[in-house]
Amino acid sequence: MTSQRPLIFDLTYSELEDYFKLKDEPAYRAEQTWVALYKYFKVDVHDISTLPTDLRAQLGEDFLFEGLTPLRTIRSEDGQTVKTLFELEDGALIEAVLMRYDERRTLCISSQSGCGLGCSFCATGQMGFSRNLTSGEIVAQVMFFARELAKTDEGVTNVVFMGMGEPFANYKQVMAALDRLNDPRGFGLGARRMTISTVGLAHKIRQFADTESQINLAVSLHTVDDELRSQLMPINKKYPVASLLDACRYYVEKTNRRLTFELALIDGVNDSAADARALAYQLQGLLCHVNLIPLNPTRSYAKTGSPVDRAKAFCDVLEESNIPCTIRLRRGIDIAAGCGQLAADSNLKS
Ligand code: SF4
Repeated sequence: MTSQRPLIFDLTYSELEDYFKLKDEPAYRAEQTWVALYKYFKVDVHDISTLPTDLRAQLGEDFLFEGLTPLRTIRSEDGQTVKTLFELEDGALIEAVLMRYDERRTLCISSQSGCGLGCSFCATGQMGFSRNLTSGEIVAQVMFFARELAKTDEGVTNVVFMGMGEPFANYKQVMAALDRLNDPRGFGLGARRMTISTVGLAHKIRQFADTESQINLAVSLHTVDDELRSQLMPINKKYPVASLLDACRYYVEKTNRRLTFELALIDGVNDSAADARALAYQLQGLLCHVNLIPLNPTRSYAKTGSPVDRAKAFCDVLEESNIPCTIRLRRGIDIAAGCGQLAADSNLKS
């Protein structure tokens, strides 16, 4: 079922102003609508009580207000991680995860339905590419969880692009979504509370660096061995480790911001002391932090995550070289929280 109506979340503030101007409505209608959407998370246009009734009806005829339908939600055993599979208007599937940790309420959201980059250990990569999301479809994921959290007087504190897809392969829409989420007139989430995670499209890292944005950047590095990295992540053939790290140095020089390298530690594949020393050597002098995440198992990748003691030994090697390092918990492993796992399972079953 495809709607011809555009999604209201796809509009910029000035596009919304233009819309009301065309309707001969006063300029403050844009602000009223923006506040209803992004501060009160209204999803039914008829609930926007600050607008006249006939204008609400008109808006409802002209725009779609939700854009995604939750198909399935599962919770981790401890209830702290919630993962939802959504269907978009054209039937494309995406998923997003809410993680509660201390005071943080972090959303892991998708930028594409499926992904064409084919990383061998990734459930989304194993599904293939369906399509890019619009900025509104990206924003709608955040608004869905903001609405859910508001029911318990909680709010979204952080957003990371680590769900389905490579955000820099959908650069324009992702940047537009970040702008909308950051807009202080509406949702107002601080730039430093949002993170783009990329597999390393070097030219896009440079483009992003040139914006001098305060949004965090994380790079899924996994290894500095080109041969192994190309096996794990075919994109490495296009942007080998040296060119990727050059782009990372450019980013740090340009922004003076610390970037994060993510390593999915895979038992017996990229987790030896020699691997750690090679990584430490390559990252010397770069303003960075390394996150080590024992790999989430997926249906079609036979390897498992590294045991904790090996992850600790890996971390020790990095810290001896003054490279800050954290071992991250595999949160939500019991609900297949790795990106794409729920949608991939759903496709397998359909
Ligand atoms: S890890 Fe990211 S880039 Fe690689 S296949 Fe999965 S979603 Fe795509």
